[in-house]
Amino acid sequence: MNSATSKATFVFEMTDDALRALPKVELHCHLELTARQSLLKELLKAKGKWRGEDEFRRDFLINEPVGDLPTLLNIFLGHRDLLGSSEVIERMTYECCEDMSSNGVRILELRYAPSFLCDAHASLTPDAMHEAILKGVARAELDFPIVVGLICLLQRVKSVEENRYWLDFAIEKKADFLAMDLADNELAYGPAPFVSLFEKAKSEGFFVTVHAGEAEGPQAAQNIRDSIELLHADRIGHGVRILEDLSVLQFVKDRGTVLELCPTSNWLSGVCATKELHPFRAIMEAGIKTTVNTDDPGIMNIDIIDEYRLLRDAMEFSESEFRQINQWARDASFLPEERKAAVWA
Ligand SMILES: [Zn+2]
Repeated sequence: MNSATSKATFVFEMTDDALRALPKVELHCHLELTARQSLLKELLKAKGKWRGEDEFRRDFLINEPVGDLPTLLNIFLGHRDLLGSSEVIERMTYECCEDMSSNGVRILELRYAPSFLCDAHASLTPDAMHEAILKGVARAELDFPIVVGLICLLQRVKSVEENRYWLDFAIEKKADFLAMDLADNELAYGPAPFVSLFEKAKSEGFFVTVHAGEAEGPQAAQNIRDSIELLHADRIGHGVRILEDLSVLQFVKDRGTVLELCPTSNWLSGVCATKELHPFRAIMEAGIKTTVNTDDPGIMNIDIIDEYRLLRDAMEFSESEFRQINQWARDASFLPEERKAAVWA
């Protein structure tokens, strides 16, 4: 390619500033794993547990695929164990919204598992934790041009009874939650035990999104279909293995179900050998409504712009394609139409 041609190619590429200015929707972000590094470092120092930058990177960030589950779990739990007060949770929530807004996110859905945080902090009641999150969101909505909705996450690794407790918690706070989610090991813990919980969630008026089609295994793609048929999923968290089963692909395409893809997270969990090989474009070109999301930006040391850069640089996404995936995300967001319209001209 001569230099004139390569220059012509770059004329249409969005600059980083243009990427940042593009109005965006983030649908899949776990609030508990969004803490800024500055906040984590401050908390470690206050507890006398700061051991330097190298140890911090090793113990608190996932910068490359982590082969073994215990190591991964330890990093998750290390974050969680620092988030033990209402003040910290409110600040983390506010800062997460601030960071998203500064990167052009106008519509933000944050999910959290009340069981995950409360398991580690006996002094933090579920109500106090929830109030802290609401305060952080309310402050951010006053300060930034962003609307924020919450999703309550149930954990597959917990018993049905325990999850029923947290579903009832969400029902009690129905005005605060848009939807219910189900996460954790989808291969060892299939959908069947959770059917009654999600039928109840639907009858209470919640939307549903389910983590499925992410882990490697023969059942992965089928889990996408089961999540829709058995758990009434309106959207799918990840679904990145959808190309492994053409009948599931056709089923999702016919229904127009939106996938919440998270490229860096999918690479870190072993879906693709490199980030650049993520099948985002292939899934979109197969006729699936795809959206781009961060999943766990704090712990994975990324922001939403990193994900857009990846699509631009490795998959040659154009501005009109970025606008298209955000339009799908805007339409699929569970926030009420009038709230979305207020920030999305
Ligand atoms: Zn997730």
